[in-house]
Amino acid sequence: MTRTATDELLDFDRDHLWHPYTSMTSPTPVRLVTGARGCELRISTGSTTEGSWVVDGMSSWWSAIHGYRHPVLDAALAAQADRFSHVMFGGLTHEPAVGLGRRLVEITPAPLERVFLADSGSVSVEVALKMALQHQRGRGRPERTRMLTVLGGYHGDTFDCMSVTDPVGGMHAMWRGLLPDQVFGPRPPAYDASPADLAAWAFEMRELAARHAHELAAIIVEPLLQGAGGMWPFAVACLRVLREIADEHRLLLIFDEIATGFGRTGHLFVSELVTPDVLCLGKALAGGYLTLAAVVTTDEVARGISASESGVLMHGPTFMGNPLACAVASASIDLLLSADWAGRVEAIGTRLAAGLAPLRTAPGVVDVRTIGAVGVVQLDHEVDVVAATEAALAAGVWLRPFRDLVYAMPPYVTGPGEVDRLVAGIAAAVSAG
Ligand SMILES: *Cc1c(COP(=O)(O)O)cnc(C)c1O
Repeated sequence: MTRTATDELLDFDRDHLWHPYTSMTSPTPVRLVTGARGCELRISTGSTTEGSWVVDGMSSWWSAIHGYRHPVLDAALAAQADRFSHVMFGGLTHEPAVGLGRRLVEITPAPLERVFLADSGSVSVEVALKMALQHQRGRGRPERTRMLTVLGGYHGDTFDCMSVTDPVGGMHAMWRGLLPDQVFGPRPPAYDASPADLAAWAFEMRELAARHAHELAAIIVEPLLQGAGGMWPFAVACLRVLREIADEHRLLLIFDEIATGFGRTGHLFVSELVTPDVLCLGKALAGGYLTLAAVVTTDEVARGISASESGVLMHGPTFMGNPLACAVASASIDLLLSADWAGRVEAIGTRLAAGLAPLRTAPGVVDVRTIGAVGVVQLDHEVDVVAATEAALAAGVWLRPFRDLVYAMPPYVTGPGEVDRLVAGIAAAVSAG
């Protein structure tokens, strides 16, 4: 067989490039993307150079909410590239950053009005945690240095982020002695939990907070839906409990909406239901075009930070407020709000729910759950990712299952026929994986 240009690229990639959570020395296969448009990716496996179009079920890890090559986002990016692509944010500012800041202040709940533009989700979580520590110092409580969180969470891959991620998911055993030691409560009960289960969870969290209050700076959670830690939607009542606990013990409440923000759960932000003191946004913030994150907080927190001994927030990434990313983010927000995003998310969710329901009785399936534009099938075993991916691609769908989960969270531009294809792809992945 003759080697194609695709083979050459894939060979070099296999020998030299790390992929997420993948062995460098015995890697699982990767495929070459040769194009992307709307809710489709063109993927080549080596035998063909061009590749074939498949429906994308992943939105490039929650981010490409408008799909690919959207003319409005393409134009925003090109227009800003024509002006300037980047300048430092120390001592300088620009219209793209101000425009994005204005939008974020407007569309997030009222008390959230101070914006820190970070360059990735993990960095925004680091900044949020640092804000909490500096705020407590500024308020005369420097001994409050630990975080309260829940099992099953995911907050990113840097060390402080790992410390508040689920101990198993965050590999705490491997990093013992290196990670800050945080306080973990039980995983919040499911969205359809009984009042008794809710009360038991609330009781445990209140007890834990009371016991550790003297050393706690903040509570951090992904609100309503735990993402990479298990695609677990939970009861909104849990967020109210956390708000009460935070107020009672003078802890900051941090919502990590890096995955849930911008409509994915059916709410523009879950923070509309319960207001945090600090909100982290990322992933879909720049429409999946560029890496960008934001931390939005209150005037009260900003004042606490300013009262700490440094007088300033001790953080400032090189690419803070990157103009290209900010310009695309503003265009993405305008695009989202100009369309009936809630209707689209609901339509996708309803169709995913109906399509996936029959899988409840499929062999090896323990649960099927949907929330917003997210559909999840949980198996009774670890998914064979290679086999499941292969089966999904054969059905014309791109999926990236993990652990015991096969799931989809498609771009909001995905139409009914394409959702049906996703359902078929998930079914194929479930039976193969
Ligand atoms: C993806 C994610 C992060 C990390 O964001 P990166 O941009 O990958 O650093 C943090 N928190 C949550 C909830 C996420 O889903």
